[in-house]
Amino acid sequence: MEPKVCAKCVLPETFPRISFDRQGVCNYCLDSQGKEGRENKAVEYRQKFESLVSEYKGKSSYDALMCYSGGKDSTYTLAVLKETYGLNVLALTLDNGFVSDQASRNIRNVVEILGIDHIFFKPSFQVLATIFRTCATEDIFPPKTLERASTICTSCMAVLKSSALRLALEKDIPFVAFGWSPGQAPITSSIMLNNPRMVRMMQKTLFDPLHRIAGDDIRPYFLEEKHFSGSYHFPYNIHPLAFMDYNEEDIYRHISRFGWKAPEDVDANSTNCLLNSFANVVHIERFGFHPYAFELANLVREGCLDRSGALDKLRHMENPGATALARERLGLA
Ligand SMILES: [Zn+2]
Repeated sequence: MEPKVCAKCVLPETFPRISFDRQGVCNYCLDSQGKEGRENKAVEYRQKFESLVSEYKGKSSYDALMCYSGGKDSTYTLAVLKETYGLNVLALTLDNGFVSDQASRNIRNVVEILGIDHIFFKPSFQVLATIFRTCATEDIFPPKTLERASTICTSCMAVLKSSALRLALEKDIPFVAFGWSPGQAPITSSIMLNNPRMVRMMQKTLFDPLHRIAGDDIRPYFLEEKHFSGSYHFPYNIHPLAFMDYNEEDIYRHISRFGWKAPEDVDANSTNCLLNSFANVVHIERFGFHPYAFELANLVREGCLDRSGALDKLRHMENPGATALARERLGLA
């Protein structure tokens, strides 16, 4: 039997700490300020971003380091930074060994057409596979992270985010940009100056469990003591989609100008990664809810996605080809 789902968003009764009122509306919806909440803050955050752009633009060799997966959201964000704000962007793609071939072609096309410098960073596959294998069966991070993403996704993201921050520090780049959708991260975190003390704390919660699994091989992906010595400028993390209009169709239309095509070998919730399907299957088996439920519910509440579209994405069967490929490459077949 399918679990009961909130009448307004798409969170199921299996989601952590959920409750429903008599109309079947969940506590997350009742606590949310919805579409208006984001719209009211959008102007303020856009202005804040524009004033930071005028302060920092042209002061360093690159204005922004974009964490670029090649998916639709980060492609759109990259285009906005370059075309709307005129920033000199360095794009960084983490190759986790599961980048779809079409996604690789998209990445090459987009950075060429936009005239952007780009780095493919491919950590040792043995190291990543060791991490992903463990993450398929163990909850190595704080329980809260499980509400927003699978443990596999969180581990990959930890390597990407800390590698990007390290590169930004070493190249003195003032912004690290992400293509988070308005459902993935709230507008209130869309412009955040990295605070070294906070970074050190957050890094510890991610580094320590990964270090137990993979050992010192992961050290180059994280900050070291010298980075906290006071001689580096910590950048702002930004995710501009939070304070912009967000609509999937508009995004697809916009990025098709660069020859961007949706990969067909991925699942309904990723437009770049072949590991995502497997990560979703494992998460659903273990916890009884889809790791994208939280993001999709937020997008519905904020008027960025209609409810039936979100339900479709959650009910969509995972891609069996991608799932089998992941099991095989990770030695779990
Ligand atoms: Zn709800």
